Amino acid sequence: MTPDQERLSHHLRRLKLHRMEQVLATVAEDATKSQLSYTDFLTQLLEAEVDARYERTTLSRIRLAHFPFTKSLADFDFSFQPSIDQKKLKELAKLRFIDQGENVIFLGPPGVGKTHLAVALGLKAAEAGYRVLCTTATDLVTTLAKALAEHRFEDRLKLLCQPKLLIIDELGYLPLDKRDATCLFQLVSRRYERGSIILTSNKSYSDWGTIFAGDNVMASAILDRLLHHSATINIKGESYRLKDKRRAGLIQPLPTLLEGGEALA
Ligand code: ADP
Ligand code: MG
Repeated sequence: MTPDQERLSHHLRRLKLHRMEQVLATVAEDATKSQLSYTDFLTQLLEAEVDARYERTTLSRIRLAHFPFTKSLADFDFSFQPSIDQKKLKELAKLRFIDQGENVIFLGPPGVGKTHLAVALGLKAAEAGYRVLCTTATDLVTTLAKALAEHRFEDRLKLLCQPKLLIIDELGYLPLDKRDATCLFQLVSRRYERGSIILTSNKSYSDWGTIFAGDNVMASAILDRLLHHSATINIKGESYRLKDKRRAGLIQPLPTLLEGGEALA
């Protein structure tokens, strides 16, 4: 490195422009070779820093979202799940539903890709700069019930309203008692028209009463707010997890758990 570059390097370090410092020597060499103008040279250096910062903030947003795994729409085999309208998913991937505070609900039996698709949309949102939080319905109501018991419910509710997108996975696998249902209702009401929810459930809407300990009134109140501005993706296919085993004849096919027509929206 020339003494001038050493000096420049020192300034970049003091300004914490670490990526610029890293690429300085190479970019300077290229600039000399290709006779870049001063502005082009500076632009190249700054672009490297801007890209590095974007990657860093995106990665930290993805980490803070607590996805159970990171899979994208490109990883999803739509030919395996013909009941899904690929065009609808592509439209959702443009993320307009987040700007409009709308919800997306994935319904279907286990293994059909509900979590995969919810995470894929969540990842897109995080990459686009939205704050995202991914949790299971069970973890969510446990956290809310604990906050209620500790008189911190309002604070917790506020925290859960901060992400522009909240993914609530696996509603319906475990029944919720009255207190849990009330907590969930309050959260859904608070986020209503303010922040989007992506929700996945193995239960059709007509069976939601059973999730809330047979309380159809509570189920309707939650559904009312969730579905007012929403898209429902009703997946009626085979489990992807079991496809290879089924092909090998190890498992008999199951009747489809969710029949069509239940979707309210
Ligand atoms: P669900 O949430 O509906 O129970 P998941 O989304 O967890 O199902 O899917 C189970 C596993 O199978 C995951 O690893 C997921 O990535 C994968 N998977 C499901 N459907 C597909 C698909 N159509 N193409 C590719 N992978 C899939
Ligand atoms: Mg799942």
